[in-house]
Amino acid sequence: MFSPSATSKIVVQGRDFYVKRDDLTHKYLSGNKYRKLHTLLQTPSEKFDTIISYGGTQSNAMLAIAAMCQLKGWRFLYYTKPLSQVQKNNPQGNYRYALSLGMEHQEIEHELYRDHIASLALALDERTFLIDQGGAVVEAKAGLEVLAEEIRQSDLSITSIATPSGTGTTALFLALALPKYKIYTTPCVGDEKYLRQQMQALHPIPKNLTILTSEKKYHFAKVYAEHFDIYKKLLNAGIEFDLLYAPLMWKNLLEQTSESILYVHSGGVSGNESMLKRYEKKGFIL
Ligand SMILES: *Cc1c(COP(=O)(O)O)cnc(C)c1O
Repeated sequence: MFSPSATSKIVVQGRDFYVKRDDLTHKYLSGNKYRKLHTLLQTPSEKFDTIISYGGTQSNAMLAIAAMCQLKGWRFLYYTKPLSQVQKNNPQGNYRYALSLGMEHQEIEHELYRDHIASLALALDERTFLIDQGGAVVEAKAGLEVLAEEIRQSDLSITSIATPSGTGTTALFLALALPKYKIYTTPCVGDEKYLRQQMQALHPIPKNLTILTSEKKYHFAKVYAEHFDIYKKLLNAGIEFDLLYAPLMWKNLLEQTSESILYVHSGGVSGNESMLKRYEKKGFIL
């Protein structure tokens, strides 16, 4: 659908890194969510008329799906738990962009949410496709094989690659597709145990995948001075990364590795708008 993403070189703390610019594939359809949607993007528009998904209101997957549906002419229904009054009065960031791309949003009461989500899969017709939270899992494999092929073709003199993990789908399928490379990842959502469980539910974890962890515990989507510091350093080096996943991956890479590394940008930069507001409120300024 899109051409292969570019590769940039940056210097961080005096070290050279390559960055696979999956953040630049498309304004809203980028990063690993773009890769995960590869199979659907290749699907002829006539095959479906509606895509359904559910999850968080600032989700990067939500935004990528909204962008895909606009390109394809598909209707996009998205379910979340109820929004706060603040979010309703003043939609922001990924949520606002997704609405502008035509996403139809429906809130489900907390008590009904689980059952409602479970019922979605039961009520599908053949022209409706359901994408589970965070991006389709089985379909993700094909898109990451495309990314792997782009990396092999780029012929860089590296044998190590890094990308941060939520569910671990991206890092796992990338490691499976690139057995000759060492793949580093870091759990950003839960701990290492959670990440291993998530991965193992998809496929046994291959030996070339290395999980780096930090001693300090970080909670997902919270505000941390260290994260802001790394974000600023990277920005000054020339590339904006997301504030949820990238800082911890970079921290661990800078502290625990020394070889030449290709960092696969996992996208999510559009989500910084709402995160930066939270940092500003706590007194962090760019
Ligand atoms: C979703 C996401 C991840 C995590 O991807 P997984 O495949 O779930 O591990 C990492 N970085 C960004 C920016 C994301 O949006």
